[in-house]
Amino acid sequence: MRAIVYTGPKSVKVAEVPDPRIEAPDDALVRVTLSAICGTDLHLVSGRFAGVQPGTVLGHEFVGEVLEAGPAVQRFRPGDRVMGSDFTACGRCRWCERGDHWECERRAVFGAGGAFGTALGGAQAELLRVPLADTTLAPVPTGCSDDAAIFIGDNLAAGWVAVERGALVPGESVAILGGGSIGQLTALSAQAAGAGMIVVVEPNAERRAFAQAHGSIAVTPHEAPALVKRLTGGDGADLVVDCVGGNAALKAALGLVRRRGRVVSTGMHGESSFDFPAGRGFNDELTLTFALGDSIRLRSRLVALIKGRVLDPSVVIDRRVGLQGVPEAYADFAAQKVLKVVIDPQD
Ligand SMILES: [Zn+2]
Ligand SMILES: [Zn+2]
Repeated sequence: MRAIVYTGPKSVKVAEVPDPRIEAPDDALVRVTLSAICGTDLHLVSGRFAGVQPGTVLGHEFVGEVLEAGPAVQRFRPGDRVMGSDFTACGRCRWCERGDHWECERRAVFGAGGAFGTALGGAQAELLRVPLADTTLAPVPTGCSDDAAIFIGDNLAAGWVAVERGALVPGESVAILGGGSIGQLTALSAQAAGAGMIVVVEPNAERRAFAQAHGSIAVTPHEAPALVKRLTGGDGADLVVDCVGGNAALKAALGLVRRRGRVVSTGMHGESSFDFPAGRGFNDELTLTFALGDSIRLRSRLVALIKGRVLDPSVVIDRRVGLQGVPEAYADFAAQKVLKVVIDPQD
């Protein structure tokens, strides 16, 4: 089959690779009808992850059709239209039963090499082997397009989890660092959950314009502290969501939050430590939480929001390519010329 493979730092190509096949009784084989490029993919191809070897098939966001189901798969049959979670989980262990699927010992992330543990094939490919299919996959219901469903497996789950973990109360002010796909979907999730004012903090002018056009106030990082203060009567935002990651973004997020406010970080962090202002944290009773979108836990709610037309995540798609167009799309995405690229791997 044809797939997108990592070839070295900041480099990917279309390659012919062996077809995946059913390897365990609870596997399904999926024909991918829609995939996507994610900000995480840019981290993975940066060359900074030792676990990502040349030849790794990339991609963890997908919608498709079941081609073949292993004998132990109960919920799916060939021909079923399915959406993925970006990682696998067993659905049975104590972590899964608590709804903490990311902690499942059988977790593996699609298309990430060994960056997050066990390596698994990627979804920027014609075919994908899906382990633990009964838990990892979900049916795509009528009333939910492929363009919307692809976000449930990752970006929308990441946006929604910030609202959930941040315990957003209707009417509260929200500041969001980062206007990429996840930042924009965090803003739409906050709107759906009844936020009052939403401020998206983003250096890229086109991404600011997108946020403005979709109901948020957009501002540059430089202007953000003064604007958020002014708009909140000098207090700071009730909830700040860091969708960028790294210590600088965490520091900026703490600079925007009010006393007794909450900061939720959904961006990626790799640093071993952070210089946390503990005195202020104590005096102001701050809450700082890190959160990962758990599509498996959240997807039934996300489907309901999409079917009910409360939010439409597909608005962030601004490029659609076949596999041949993917290497150029990676470069344009890295240069922030596009917000969200979706891929038709059969094209
Ligand atoms: Zn992703
Ligand atoms: Zn489990």
